[in-house]
Amino acid sequence: MRAMGQNASMRVLSGTPASGGVARGPWVRIEPIREPEARTIGPAEVETERARLAAAAALAATELEAIAERVTADGHPDEGAIFGAQAQMARDPALASLAEQAIEERHLDAVGAVLEAGRELADQLRGLGDELLSARAADVRDVALRIARRAAGVPDAGPPHLDASSIVVAEDLPPSVTATLPRERLLGFALESGSATAHAAILARAYGIPAVVGVAGLLAALAPGEIAIDGSSGEVFIDPDAVASAEIERRAVQARQADAEARDEASLPAVTRDGVAVTLLANIGTPEEAPRAVELGAHGVGLFRTEFLFLERLTEPTEDEQVAAYRAAVEAFAPHAVTIRLLDIGGDKPIPYLPLAPEANPFLGVRALRLAATQPGIFLRQLRAAMRAALAGPVKVMAPMVADAGDAATLLSLAAQARAELEARGEPFAPIELGVMLEIPGAILVGHTYFSQLAFASLGTNDLLQYTLAVDRGNPALARYQDSLHPALLRLVREAVERAERAGIELSVCGEMAGDPVAALALVGLGIRKLSMAASSLAPVRRAIRGTDEATLRAAALAALDDASAAHVRARFRAIPGAAAAG
Ligand code: PEP
Ligand code: MG
Repeated sequence: MRAMGQNASMRVLSGTPASGGVARGPWVRIEPIREPEARTIGPAEVETERARLAAAAALAATELEAIAERVTADGHPDEGAIFGAQAQMARDPALASLAEQAIEERHLDAVGAVLEAGRELADQLRGLGDELLSARAADVRDVALRIARRAAGVPDAGPPHLDASSIVVAEDLPPSVTATLPRERLLGFALESGSATAHAAILARAYGIPAVVGVAGLLAALAPGEIAIDGSSGEVFIDPDAVASAEIERRAVQARQADAEARDEASLPAVTRDGVAVTLLANIGTPEEAPRAVELGAHGVGLFRTEFLFLERLTEPTEDEQVAAYRAAVEAFAPHAVTIRLLDIGGDKPIPYLPLAPEANPFLGVRALRLAATQPGIFLRQLRAAMRAALAGPVKVMAPMVADAGDAATLLSLAAQARAELEARGEPFAPIELGVMLEIPGAILVGHTYFSQLAFASLGTNDLLQYTLAVDRGNPALARYQDSLHPALLRLVREAVERAERAGIELSVCGEMAGDPVAALALVGLGIRKLSMAASSLAPVRRAIRGTDEATLRAAALAALDDASAAHVRARFRAIPGAAAAG
């Protein structure tokens, strides 16, 4: 914590950047919802408390379902789905049986028992060591607290109010509060705890408002007056003085300008100076990200990572829930296509409802499509949901971790089975296009044996680099190898382009490489015409493409195949006139 300027109460705190942009305004502190008093009981009260627990859980579930319906009817189906998932948790037998055990064995009343059960389940989720699942622990606590309050006879407080446009500050925000904050008055969030994957952070990114989380000492430092947050640097200014105000204003103007420029340019075609058009697509992880990607000019989704939908819960999302999530994205992008990736998980990401054996080397193990051998059901449900969502607009489905023709055949037969099941059910659906991710070098090298059976393929350069150079993609000690402009990777891209052309199928790139403006130029030079990236990369990549000639990029790409290192390749593309816009 640092004091500066003439203003005695001014403080600048640092947290984790969770959603970019700068906001300044009055703050509203949202207090945590208090836990009701619990007590111990005698043996004679066990039955009464069990009944009280069951009634409170049923009431909480009904309330949550009603909120889900109201929020959805108000035009926020994705936030509505959060409550739908919470309603399911309230009816979850795992929570109920843990609570009943606490009543019977630890002699807690219904209030104490359900709070205890919520804590235990949340600890289990956090103990799995996965960031997304840890963030979902907040949902479990939230639901348990609601049940406890109903058991204690405390009524529902209703959605929070903001009298004026404000920055919301809190220790943490339970999803049930976050999702009902009035969007039109919400300038941003600053949270003392929380992670970048918390609901508040996800919502802020979807709304395009700034958020900073994990700000140690935030609540104690709050002072009367305004606060400002910089969601890109992670700074929170409390009661900013004149000097800080000028700096905040400068950053706000800069952020607004960058945002306005990105939006203004959104409708410009991504075409090189010599007239070669490139299609820019978005990578998304939740349907909430779709509207912003559309605004920034994405012509469809090249990668919808569906793991988030599956990881954020204690039970598998039902087929209907998946249809709703996929359809929300499809509707946002229609008439452009949304590419849904089948679940890409393995032993490194434990899921409570999916038994995965721990493996010594999960990135080379039974992950992603390889799970279909023992757990085809999860992929069949995904495929059926995708086919049903295709009624709302064009849908493509791709399988991750495909190694060869055998894996492609697995995808095709799963899709045929899913289709037959929908037909047998009399369920309406529409055709989808099928494709694979190319993230294993072998899958490219034998592409000629199966590409023609598919509609498309997409290069997942993050894993492709990892498997090509035997480099753990998350290990900072191996940074030297982690530039995807490595000539070995470029050679694989060229192979993929040639084989896809020969088979007459579409090829795109959806790894981070596509969103790096310099690397995007190399990909265009290698013949790639579809790039899929995080929404925030769309404007810089479009600028880079519009500033260069394809003929120059093609010549540079050819020469780069013989370069000795990624650094050489990067320098080569940076030196191209017009590529300066690529940074
Ligand atoms: C990739 O591997 O390049 C990719 C896009 O998938 P993910 O980053 O989700 O593994
Ligand atoms: Mg991958």
